[in-house]
Amino acid sequence: MTGAVPTAAQQSTVPLVGGSTGGLPEPVAAQGLPRSIRIVEVGPRDGLQNEKKRIPAAVKLEFIERLGAAGLRTIEATSFVNPRWVPQLADAAEVFPAITRRPGVHYPVLVPNARGLDGALAAGATEIAVFASATDTFAERNLAATLDGQFDMFAPVVERAVAEGLTVRGYLSMCYGDPWEGRVPVEQVVATGRRLLELGCAELSLGDTIGVGTAGQVTALLEAFGAAGVPTSRIAAHFHDTYGQALANTVAALRCGVRTVDASAGGLGGCPFARSATGNLATEDLVWMLTGLGIEHGVDLLSLVDTSVWMAGQLGRPAPSAVVRALSGLASPEDTASPEDTATR
Ligand code: MG
Repeated sequence: MTGAVPTAAQQSTVPLVGGSTGGLPEPVAAQGLPRSIRIVEVGPRDGLQNEKKRIPAAVKLEFIERLGAAGLRTIEATSFVNPRWVPQLADAAEVFPAITRRPGVHYPVLVPNARGLDGALAAGATEIAVFASATDTFAERNLAATLDGQFDMFAPVVERAVAEGLTVRGYLSMCYGDPWEGRVPVEQVVATGRRLLELGCAELSLGDTIGVGTAGQVTALLEAFGAAGVPTSRIAAHFHDTYGQALANTVAALRCGVRTVDASAGGLGGCPFARSATGNLATEDLVWMLTGLGIEHGVDLLSLVDTSVWMAGQLGRPAPSAVVRALSGLASPEDTASPEDTATR
């Protein structure tokens, strides 16, 4: 890398890495990795849900539109949750029907309970997700239920949704560690995940909610699911970058056969239970890595960076994503002090 970091708009004419142009890494394939993956963009829901500043529905709709324009094919749009729990998404019934649907793009929504399912169906949703915990304490804190008791809440929701012809995804949180319980037994995660699939969830997204997981743990957990008869084709990876492990964990998951990865544009969204503010794996960071590995993802990275810079302006603070910083010229002065400095980071 030479000279000052250009803005995303300037990137298209600037040679950057490995002699390639367009501000993208030179693709070099690595063994044991897939040719393509599916990205589930969770920014409009998981990314925004904890934002304190109220974001207008029109901004959310533009965000969703821009994500679709950047090439994302699955965009989790909102959550039909009680507004008392998540005030930021209280406008789900207004936002969801107003989305300009793009052909081939999926717009799932989160549904925590029967009432949420009513709202999602009334708004015209065809894909939903339910949210479960792999630990007792988080189930109690987040869902006011026990590990077993939470299924009383989901079972009728999933059953009715499947009967209505909806596709259901199951999120399982705290799969690699719990802030109150510490280590989470692999057998407990596998048993809870299997119950979600047996209920009728088509896909299981394994969440490292506080970002403490490391690559060996990811491999061990996915192998345990495989040994329990759950194919990786039904598993999605959902990592948080609290300790900078999200991409390493993603590679570990891909090597185990996972082909669906959740990510949030700009790295928006944290977990209120993790000490660091660092949140979801940034879609840009994921796309940069996939591009470098020659793995198809269908996303226009520079368009996505522009979207995250725009969204950062709406939120009043820079996006956490390293790739957004690097490509948008938003890096702090010391980060761009010299090419040598930049090259060693
Ligand atoms: Mg998340």
